[in-house]
Amino acid sequence: MKRPMLTIVVPCYNEEDVLPESARQLTAVLQSLIEEQLIAPESKILFVDDGSQDRTWILINKLMDQNRYVTGIKLARNFGHQKALIAGLETAKEKSDCVISIDADLQDDVGAIRDFVLKYLEGYDIVYGVRNKRETDTAFKRLTAQGFYRLMKWMGVDLVYNHADFRLMSKRALEELSRYKEVNLFLRGVVAQLGFRTAVVYYDRKERFAGTSKYPLKKMLAFAFDGITSFSVVPIRMITLIGFLSFMISSLAGVYIMISKLTGHADSGWTSMMISIWFIGGLLLMSVGLIGEYIGKIYQETKRRPRYSIETDLYSGRAGKSVQATKLAERR
Ligand code: UDP
Ligand code: MG
Repeated sequence: MKRPMLTIVVPCYNEEDVLPESARQLTAVLQSLIEEQLIAPESKILFVDDGSQDRTWILINKLMDQNRYVTGIKLARNFGHQKALIAGLETAKEKSDCVISIDADLQDDVGAIRDFVLKYLEGYDIVYGVRNKRETDTAFKRLTAQGFYRLMKWMGVDLVYNHADFRLMSKRALEELSRYKEVNLFLRGVVAQLGFRTAVVYYDRKERFAGTSKYPLKKMLAFAFDGITSFSVVPIRMITLIGFLSFMISSLAGVYIMISKLTGHADSGWTSMMISIWFIGGLLLMSVGLIGEYIGKIYQETKRRPRYSIETDLYSGRAGKSVQATKLAERR
């Protein structure tokens, strides 16, 4: 059998501290896989620079000169982890038989990559890396992550528990994935929906060995909210439900009020008035806001804007528009 060409996609945002070490470890993994004749010798590590403000892109270029496995693409600005990943996957898909995505900080065990490839060779199209334990994460991260999985499950979004974006996908799985044209692509949810033969590989999650997390609470919340609203209409149904419940309660209250009135027990109900006005008002505002959120999504989708723009592509040998423009200008 022809050995598969593997590309490891690594999104990087301000990762100058970790990049050289990541490249070193990933190269070692690739080399040993090539020596074992498990993958093709032209396999690659594709760094996706997600509009970093530090020396990340310079480092990627430097690594490329020294290391024949390293290659990179540079996005035109910071698009966020998910978009950077998608950009990498779609770029890598063209040349590769299978693609593995892993974070630049190597919190995910590079040792699991070999197991991924073995599963792929057995005929699996999607291999999920799943964390055994989360001891190395901060208590806060663990709590928020757990809350996230619970909430998603409750909202009816099918996710692989404790699986982040460390996974292998075959070419045909990636081709299916790129048929999902939505701008707000929630990768973990969509991949879980693709189908195909899937396998799971367990590993221990480590600590970030350098640099700081690029996922502050704000980005985490945005991520969770995006996941929910692009996959589930449960929040909108909840509004209907709450509306129905409050209608039922108010009818009961109406009966009670009528009886009190008729039996002459009605007093000037200032408190209950105030409370209900505020309660209903709040409920309405919240509901309208939530529905607006979905309408916003529809608005974004109908515009069909590109998910990301690549400024420079050193992997496929294609340069983005801006680079081509400067080259043309130089020639003139
Ligand atoms: N990342 C990115 N764009 C962003 C934020 C993060 O490409 O806007 C990358 C980052 O460089 C890393 C990965 O996404 O490779 C995961 O980020 P991080 O390790 O900071 O997240 P955490 O592990 O703390 O959840
Ligand atoms: Mg990390």
